[in-house]
Amino acid sequence: MDKISIIVSCYNEERSLPLFYNEIENIVKKDFKNVEFEYIFVNDGSKDNTLNIIKELSRKDKKIRYISFSRNFGKEAAMYAGLKESSGDYVTLMDADLQDPPSMLKEMYDIIKSEGYDAVGTRRVSRKGEPPIRSFFARLFYKIINRMSNIEMVDGARDYRLMSRQVVDAILELGEYNRYSKGLWSFVGFNTKWLEYENIERVAGESKWSFWKLFKYAIEGITAFSTVPLVISSFIGLFFCFVAFILIIVIIVKTIAFGDPTGGWPSLVCIIFFVSGVQLFSLGVIGHYLSKTYLEVKKRPIYIIKEKN
Ligand code: UDP
Ligand code: MG
Repeated sequence: MDKISIIVSCYNEERSLPLFYNEIENIVKKDFKNVEFEYIFVNDGSKDNTLNIIKELSRKDKKIRYISFSRNFGKEAAMYAGLKESSGDYVTLMDADLQDPPSMLKEMYDIIKSEGYDAVGTRRVSRKGEPPIRSFFARLFYKIINRMSNIEMVDGARDYRLMSRQVVDAILELGEYNRYSKGLWSFVGFNTKWLEYENIERVAGESKWSFWKLFKYAIEGITAFSTVPLVISSFIGLFFCFVAFILIIVIIVKTIAFGDPTGGWPSLVCIIFFVSGVQLFSLGVIGHYLSKTYLEVKKRPIYIIKEKN
């Protein structure tokens, strides 16, 4: 008999959790025969009643296991912890807000079982209900990162996916501190089939992603899977050397031909400002990679568990 582990990361989800639990129970009872289930709720340092709700559910339902972090470590850490604790032959990751429709689980399972895929991922084809400016930047991000990285990032890919044990073990091998899962899934390879669906808005509560948080996450993704920004910095440097060389020749020729009239200091100031801006920017890019390396080298734990059952 197969066992499926369902990992749910929860951060302040007191309002959506009961709804989620009902929904998943319905699906599991209705669609699955002869499959054992395990639910792993990861409480990512919620400040509301989430942990108590999880505990209460786990008292009623023996399938439920939970891990509670000592503080908020972020969804990436929560997913990693869940994968680590999972024992199923197949593992799926879901959001607690029902934006990842549990009703697709059966189809995903059937595809893995009958079509020989190692993983089934989901991607939303629309971004209905999302602010247009956010959709615009999201699309732009995928264009940029796919140019910059050898690893393919699928536009609109969700973390909602069903994976075989082999894929999960491969992911767990990647114990890096700066985790960018969308890249990690692609990095490990394996045969993945993508199912598409229309965006669904969350049932209750609020999204934890502000524009600024998403922006930082995007930078994270780029630095984790591409070193192209470093190369760009070098090219800009080379370009400016070239421009400087031309300018020097122009000035020498001009001075020889027309003498040396003083002047041109405003343009000089502009150039100094511009070039030092570029220098600082490049330093910033290098610094960013350095800071990532610094964090990796320290080998801090990705999460800290306060309690679990
Ligand atoms: N989440 C988490 N830790 C965080 C932020 C979010 O575990 O620091 C969980 C959250 O509870 C939810 C999922 O990650 O189950 C997705 O979060 P959200 O719905 O806010 O993101 P969105 O769907 O808007 O991208
Ligand atoms: Mg959501």
